[in-house]
Amino acid sequence: MNTAQTPHRVVILGAGYAGMATAIQLAARTRRRSDVRVTVVNAQERFTERLRLHMTATGQDVAELTIPTLLAETGARFVRGWVTAVDAHARTVRVDDSQVLHYDTLVYGLGSVADTAAVPGAQEHAYTLDSPADAAALADRLARLGAGTVVVAGSGLTGVEAAAEIAERHPELTVVLVGQREPGAGMNAKARAYLRHALTRLGVQVHTGAAVTRVLPDGVELADGRTVAAAVVLWTGGTRVSPLAAAAGLSVDDRGRVVTDATLRSVSHPDVYAVGDAAAVRQGYGVLHGTCQSGMPTGVHVGVSIARSVRGRQPQPFRFGYYHTPVSLGRHDALVQFTHPDDSPRRLCLTGRTAVWYKETVSASPWPTYRRMSRMPASGAFWPRGGRFTRLRDAR
Ligand SMILES: Cc1cc2nc3c(=O)[nH]c(=O)nc-3n(C[C@H](O)[C@H](O)[C@H](O)COP(=O)(O)OP(=O)(O)OC[C@H]3O[C@@H](n4cnc5c(N)ncnc54)[C@H](O)[C@@H]3O)c2cc1C
Repeated sequence: MNTAQTPHRVVILGAGYAGMATAIQLAARTRRRSDVRVTVVNAQERFTERLRLHMTATGQDVAELTIPTLLAETGARFVRGWVTAVDAHARTVRVDDSQVLHYDTLVYGLGSVADTAAVPGAQEHAYTLDSPADAAALADRLARLGAGTVVVAGSGLTGVEAAAEIAERHPELTVVLVGQREPGAGMNAKARAYLRHALTRLGVQVHTGAAVTRVLPDGVELADGRTVAAAVVLWTGGTRVSPLAAAAGLSVDDRGRVVTDATLRSVSHPDVYAVGDAAAVRQGYGVLHGTCQSGMPTGVHVGVSIARSVRGRQPQPFRFGYYHTPVSLGRHDALVQFTHPDDSPRRLCLTGRTAVWYKETVSASPWPTYRRMSRMPASGAFWPRGGRFTRLRDAR
């Protein structure tokens, strides 16, 4: 391993839910070692609580959580800037086109954003929940509207949460949720019925089986040729990842996510790990879909693995099983669908105030979890491994 004169340089790209988990876990485990240097690069100093961006989009205040302050407790270095290139051959990262960082191990955790390239006009005319600034711009527009229609395009859970929140905070607006799938399509019949009922109670008009094919300056066009007029369109139809991994020559899947081996290393570049939404992580039941629920464990696992590697030990296979799908329905209602490890629904659901409490507990938990991990790294390593659902025959 490296000597004290040549520290092992670990550069973590992205301080979202997954990248922060890696940074805190690794820095806490190696803080007494002078032969490991951890650097975290992120676009902003403020931690983005994506789970709460629909609250920001309706003018609600969320906590100011500062990444460098928390990292300072662990000794990790923070670089604020925009990553513009990765050179996987030279092992360098370019930040803001001016600064160059050298790495021995790279952790790629740049997350995902709404896929506004999916249909024409979305990029130009739709709002997104990609960042606090995007959500605040939407809040500002909604507050000034007074009356009119808001189309939420995309009937996945991000669309459901956003539509419910907007309808509750802005009863003067007409909210239309448009998408191909029924809200809560992966849930059991009871949960789907609850979602429908809650959306109706909030006054949300739900149009399903309707693919949006174009976003217009004043509405959306559907696959069947109809248009829905709207003063505001929020795009939540699918996600896409940064093109940087593909441009660097890393093996990526058809969605641009870094393809990982069982230990979360890039299959093409073993000195690169990938975590969170930016990684294509295969389990026995399929490839993980982007959630905070699975993203944080990928981050923790990579932190542990790198700490093992610098001690000359082998990284272990990653295993994860889903356990719940919590959905907020405004501030006074929510639904929690408990799941099997492969994300298929169990019979058990929570609704109403118990579900509101559960959802809030989940949304509030990442930052206290990081704080606890910075003092006791092992405390972060608990999540369901998924039993027989996640046993890969070729895992090693
Ligand atoms: C409104 C909304 C609600 C959601 N609700 C839930 C939920 O209830 N439960 C759940 O499990 N999941 C939920 N999700 C999904 C969840 O937020 C993501 O799966 C999670 O954020 C992924 O974590 P990550 O660390 O991979 O990426 P992110 O959290 O997106 O973090 C990536 C970080 O990288 C930074 N970054 C990106 N590109 C660059 C660059 N080029 N240079 C520098 N920095 C860069 C970003 O600024 C960000 O800080 C929700 C998502 C949204 C949008």
